[in-house]
Amino acid sequence: MKAEGVAERWCELRERVAEAALRAGRRPEEVKILGASKGQPPEKIREAFSAGLTLVGENYVQEAEKKRAALRDLPLSWHLIGYLQKNKARKALALFDLIQTVDRPEIARKLSGLAEETGRRLPVLIQVNVGYEETKAGVLPEDLFELARLVKDLPGLELRGLMTIPPYQEDPEAVRPYFRRLRELRDDLREKLDLEGLTELSMGMSHDFEVAVEEGATIVRLGTALFGPRPPKGGA
Ligand SMILES: *Cc1c(COP(=O)(O)O)cnc(C)c1O
Repeated sequence: MKAEGVAERWCELRERVAEAALRAGRRPEEVKILGASKGQPPEKIREAFSAGLTLVGENYVQEAEKKRAALRDLPLSWHLIGYLQKNKARKALALFDLIQTVDRPEIARKLSGLAEETGRRLPVLIQVNVGYEETKAGVLPEDLFELARLVKDLPGLELRGLMTIPPYQEDPEAVRPYFRRLRELRDDLREKLDLEGLTELSMGMSHDFEVAVEEGATIVRLGTALFGPRPPKGGA
């Protein structure tokens, strides 16, 4: 990529997202860019905010806690995009505006109970393991309906959509079937559960986001393409 700073990269990425959307007959405004900022210092997020970023995704509860404190003055929306352990649920609820990684009944019930205590309804996405990878989190497609019905009925949660991390492929075109699958799963669920609000599709990362947008992504999660290479561990 030729652009150098975070602000320049933001502008270039917005353009590429817009072009991909238009290619698929979609409106560019339908696609939000989430800055996947794990391992990046708060200053990088601040730079991106100045350029137009409003949505931040963090993988770890503790790391998010520090950065949120450092960026308290900015009106950012924070999403959890990493695996959530049950014993971190309370903290996660306090830190995040939306949790993208609900993937099992146990964590859904836990979050709902905690949200209810605070009189809140927490927006969530369900993470789906569309590639059937043993190393990845996410509910399997055949178990999705059951979990989605549970989440829909839990009083502390509001089901907004689906999220996936497909198998890594060198060629972004090879990932297209996984993105398409997630869209089909969402469309199917929306109809079966009669849930108008089930709209979000969080899919696509730095090397394959254009294909994801062509297949219907509403949130693309960009890390290195926006912030540059992640500093070595401990560098944030
Ligand atoms: C790190 C990460 C990203 C961003 O990855 P890049 O390839 O750097 O864009 C997106 N989603 C999740 C869940 C991540 O952990």
